[in-house]
Parts: sequence; structure tokens; C-alpha cells
Amino acid sequence: MPASDPPAAESRHERELVVNACPPGWQNPTPGAPYHLLIIGAGPGGLVAARAAAALGAKVALIERHRLGGDSLNYGGVPSKAMIRTARLYADMRNASQYGAEPPADIRVDFFAAMERVRRIRARISRVDSAVRLVAEGIDLYFGTARFVGRDAVEVGGTRLRFRKALIATGSRSIQPTIPGLVEAGFLTNGNVFDLTVQPASLLVIGGGPLGCELAQAFSRFGTRTIIAHDEPLFLPKEERDAAQMVSEALARDGVEIHLNSKAVNVRVEGGRKLVDLVNDGNVATTAVEEILTGIGREPAVQGLDLEAAGVAYDAAAGVHVDDFLRTSNPHIYAAGDVCLEHKFTDTADASARIVVHNALFLGRKKMSALTIPWCTYTDPEVAHVGMYVKEARQRRIPVKTFTVPMHDVDRAITDSEEDGFVKIHVREGTDTILGATIVARHAGEMINGISLAMVAKIGLRTVASVIHTYPTQAEAIKKAADAYTRTHRTPFFAWLLRKWLNR
Ligand SMILES: Cc1cc2nc3c(=O)[nH]c(=O)nc-3n(C[C@H](O)[C@H](O)[C@H](O)COP(=O)(O)OP(=O)(O)OC[C@H]3O[C@@H](n4cnc5c(N)ncnc54)[C@H](O)[C@@H]3O)c2cc1C
Repeated sequence: MPASDPPAAESRHERELVVNACPPGWQNPTPGAPYHLLIIGAGPGGLVAARAAAALGAKVALIERHRLGGDSLNYGGVPSKAMIRTARLYADMRNASQYGAEPPADIRVDFFAAMERVRRIRARISRVDSAVRLVAEGIDLYFGTARFVGRDAVEVGGTRLRFRKALIATGSRSIQPTIPGLVEAGFLTNGNVFDLTVQPASLLVIGGGPLGCELAQAFSRFGTRTIIAHDEPLFLPKEERDAAQMVSEALARDGVEIHLNSKAVNVRVEGGRKLVDLVNDGNVATTAVEEILTGIGREPAVQGLDLEAAGVAYDAAAGVHVDDFLRTSNPHIYAAGDVCLEHKFTDTADASARIVVHNALFLGRKKMSALTIPWCTYTDPEVAHVGMYVKEARQRRIPVKTFTVPMHDVDRAITDSEEDGFVKIHVREGTDTILGATIVARHAGEMINGISLAMVAKIGLRTVASVIHTYPTQAEAIKKAADAYTRTHRTPFFAWLLRKWLNR
């Protein structure tokens, strides 16, 4: 278990998770001939590769040092989204009057029950990739820490495993801020925050990326006095400014105290409270909280793998170096997921692992650069993006035209009182080719998939405009943006012809 993990909360859900994801007393198999594919790390990347390769008849070894499911199931997307869902329920209860209902007189937050639900959901999803199931699919499953002991060999628990091809899918870990006094004071990360059973009365979230914004909003909705400090002028630095601004406003509405351009520089404990000095433009403000949660980014998990022994090039910041086919500097070893990619998402780990199975085992030439990668930050409203940003297109000297539809012009957003946000679709100017899109909406993560599909299938905005969208749905905003395109893209001749016809 990683050093940052506290003892897991004792619950029957936790016990089920352990049985599925790291069964006590597990006996590792005895390796025989070199494996067709040896995989280090059983997060989404390693799991998808193992199951795909085994289903194709390959002899597969999968090695996991902690829990099957990796960060995504245990400390990432699954628990955070489960927690966010309950937080949203509390927000909806408080906003009941918006829906013509009376808010409950006394909204009592049962934090323990909410977190038990998180753990129940985690345990339930752990059944999908349980140890027993993987073995039944013909995968040789090893528990232990793997390290390379040669160009074609790995050691785990003193046993040497040989391979024809290997996949490094060891993921990433949270970057620890080097703030004097932080370690001594104690702090939460994504590795232990979902094990909380008692609600912190107050919380400082350090970092305004997706993790920080999602959890700051969730804790605030649970009723924790929440402060967020981010050392840049806007949250979600990668996103378009108007999208980031909407997240800021949403957090403020939910009662989060926002400190932008603010750096936490010192932590000390006084009277059982953690005092944190935040510096903004040379001014120091001290905030007193019960807990601190850090979320300042992720770094690739390359430590302890002895990559040098295998001739695999890497560096601490970018992780394992791979080419467009996800091959490392050792042509028999590939990498996928957070350990080598800039985009650190479950879906991307999955997609990259599929590329590896194809390329490593079947002489495939699938390229990572050919993928269209969407992502979403699950604040309320959500912020989803796919393809290029305008800034990026301009840097590449691609002329861009943008079609924007505010959600307050979309009937279903109005009926649901979910009017915050917009759909913004960028096309190559003079064509209907979609370059990218940003959606800010309560269900932006669902909506963006329609645009990803259009981009992958090379469907232009003109065709999107001809697709009947069910009414009333929030995804109609996409059709409205496409309609805006067709209205503005009649050739002068066609416009003249229309006028002639109508006035005949
Ligand atoms: C709080 C949070 C929320 C997130 N929310 C989302 C979301 O909503 N959507 C989304 O798409 N992504 C989300 N992510 C990102 C997502 O969790 C990761 O991108 C994804 O888990 C990466 O998968 P992976 O297989 O590359 O690595 P991981 O999931 O990190 O798995 C790697 C595995 O390798 C094991 N390992 C490491 N070293 C060794 C070794 N030497 N020997 C054996 N085993 C080893 C680890 O124990 C781990 O189980 C979130 C992340 C966090 C932290």
C-alpha cells in the first residue's frame, strides 16, 4: 500500500473492494514460457490491455502492486463522481424553490452515509475487473511490485518473468506541494480523501485544476466551509477563459471562498487548527482550517521500475518516452496511460492500451496522434472539451470561425432550470469541418460525445444540422450551433437564388 494511504475505512464495502481488487492471501502463479504480453499496472490501461490480449489468445501476465482498477476506481473518477452526485443532491434540495418546491426545513448532511455510498459504489464497480474474473479469462495475475531486471525480464516478489512484449501502465501519482509545515500538519490527497468518515468543518483546497474545483464544490455543497487557493488568475488553466470564469462563478455561488493568484507558502498548527499563509501580490492572508486537500497535478509513476535495466528512456516530468506508436526506446516495450501521456484520463488510458495491444502483438501501426480525445471537468456546470482550442488553432495558423449557443436559449435547459453555460463549436473558416468544441452545461460530459463522434466520423457541421435531435434535450444546443453555421454559410449565389425563388 502506498505510504500516503491511511488505513482504509473499515466497512463491509471496503472488505468487498479488497476481496475483488487485492484478495488477501493471493498465490501468484508460476511463470512458464515467456509471456506474449506482460503488463505492469492494473489501472484502466493495464486492465483493458490484459483483457483484450487474453481474449485474442495471447498468454498474458498482469502485475499489480496495490489494487486492481488503479487510480480511476480507487482514488479517482469513480469515488469523486459518486461523491459529487450526493453533493449535487444537497445543492438541489437547497435550490428546491427554483423548482416550485419547498426546501426541506432542516437539511441535515449525513456525511458518513454519503461516503459509505462512495465506498459501496467503488466496491460494486470493483466486481467488473475482480481478480477472480481476470483469472477466469486466462490472465496470469500477480500481486507485487514489478521492476525490470533486463531487456526482456521483470521481477515480482522474487520471481522472474520473461516476456516477448511488455506494457508499462503504472499510471501517475499526485504531486506533493513543497510547502513548509504541510507534511507536519498533515493533509489530504485523492489517495485518502475518499476514506473520510467524518466531515471536516473547514477545508482549504490547494490547486484549482479539475480535481481541486470538483472537490471544492462538492465539499462546499456538503456544508464544509471551503476555501480554494489557486496560483493563477483563473481555474482550469487549460480551458477557454469564459468556461473557466463560469466555474469560478459557480463555485462562488456554492459558497466556496476563492483565492486566485494566491500561493500557499507556509502551514503551522495552532490550537488543533491548520493555519495556512496565502500570498497574493505580496500580501499575506492567513486562513485557519481543519483540513487541507492538495490537488496541484499528477506526475508519472516511474520510480522503482528500474527502467534503465530494460533500456527504457524516461524523465520524471514526462514519464516514459514513447513514439507515436507508443513504443519506448526498447522496441519490445510499450507504455500507455498516465505514465507516458500528457492527457491523463481514464478514457485515454483505455484507448492508448488498445493501440498497444494492436501494435505490440499484431504488427499494427495505430498512432496515438490519430485519436480524438475529449475530456470533462465534473463541476456543476460541467466543462467538456474536444479537439482544438481557438488559441491552438491560431498558433497553427488555421483560420477559425466559432458558433456559440448559450444554454439559456435551449428549451430543455430552461425547463430544467439549468441555464448556465454554452456550446461553442469551432470550424475551419470557410468549411464545416469541426476543429473542436467546448461545452459548459450541467451534462456537458454527455453532450460532448456527439461532437467527438462527428469529428471521428468526419461529419461536418452542415450534416449535424440535418440530424434530428430529440426535443427537448440539452444536446439540442449542438444542433442550434450547427443551424447557425448553415444560416451563415449560404453562398452568395444560393442566397440570390433563394431570393429569386421567393419573389417569383
Ligand atoms: C481525483 C481524480 C479524479 C479523476 N477523475 C477522472 C474522470 O472523471 N475522468 C477521467 O477520465 N479521468 C479521471 N481521473 C484520471 C484517471 O484516474 C487516470 O487518468 C487513470 O486512472 C489512468 O489510468 P492508468 O491505467 O494509466 O493508471 P492508474 O489508474 O494510475 O493505474 C496504474 C496502476 O499501476 C500500479 N503500479 C504502479 N507501479 C507499479 C509497479 N512497479 N508494479 C506493479 N504495479 C504498479 C498502481 O498501483 C496502479 O494500480 C481522475 C484522477 C483523479 C486523481
